[in-house]
Amino acid sequence: VLDASRFNIFRASRTLAALFGANLFGANLFGAIALATLVGCDTTPTAGDPIETTSAPQKASATETRDVVPEVGYSDTPLIPGTTYRVHDGTRPQPLLVSIGDQATLPPPGAAPSDARILFDGNDLLQWQGKNGAAGWKLVGDGMEVNGTGDIATRESFGDVQMHVEFRTPTKPSGSSQGRGNSGVFFLERYEIQVLDSWKNPTYPDGQAAAIYGQRPPLVNASLPPGQWQAYDIVFLGPRFAKDGSVTRPARATVFHNGILVQHDVPFQGPTRHRTLTEYEPHPERAPIRLQDHGDPVQFRNIWVRELTEETD
Ligand code: MG
Repeated sequence: VLDASRFNIFRASRTLAALFGANLFGANLFGAIALATLVGCDTTPTAGDPIETTSAPQKASATETRDVVPEVGYSDTPLIPGTTYRVHDGTRPQPLLVSIGDQATLPPPGAAPSDARILFDGNDLLQWQGKNGAAGWKLVGDGMEVNGTGDIATRESFGDVQMHVEFRTPTKPSGSSQGRGNSGVFFLERYEIQVLDSWKNPTYPDGQAAAIYGQRPPLVNASLPPGQWQAYDIVFLGPRFAKDGSVTRPARATVFHNGILVQHDVPFQGPTRHRTLTEYEPHPERAPIRLQDHGDPVQFRNIWVRELTEETD
């Protein structure tokens, strides 16, 4: 367990470095080394120490304190390969709620990088379309609000991207579990990163905010209360298919929720779906990015993408 956590810290540092630059990488590397040193430190008690102080070094004991809320899930759904859990399994431990701190690395609203494609800056919905043409969501302040007119999708198609999107869930909150502040970001129109009010609103963990819907809960719950703007920074890589239709590379996602790493290079089992698993079927490398109208007045703002091209050595 310790080796795995150390490994993940280094991998996370690398991902952060890619996202935020070398200076932060240095800081994270320092932190990782400090933590590794702490984890590996000698805790042999000296003579005279009371027995109670000989416990292992302090470490987040997630598995011991995480809640399980079986009643929010399903028990008749398929087993997710590589796990002991079913799709939407209520016995999957609830991700721990973490305080996000006060991170200087979070950009202020509206500050997109110079090479980003702006998909929404609060002025209009021209980059989006609805089922029957123009996107019908309501402009509210510097955001747009889901209003029952259906999903909206980008007019342009995208493949591998870094995406920034901010959202806030409704006040006052109503409903529970999947019925509270539900929306979603679909890449290639098939692969959903869930949007949900996950502030004191237990649901099946693979369906909470920042989950790869129906497949993988976030590492922790970095949600903020309803009415507060939250950010997803997502690196999404689409799948690749061989000529015979077999998958040569699954879709993958890395997600920061309010600056906290919650999905790290996680492969999708296939397109995300309610209550079931799916097989990959060949599809184009580019398709619109879609935002879900799940009937809840969730708001979005400050949406941009940076297109990622494959490295050539
Ligand atoms: Mg959703």
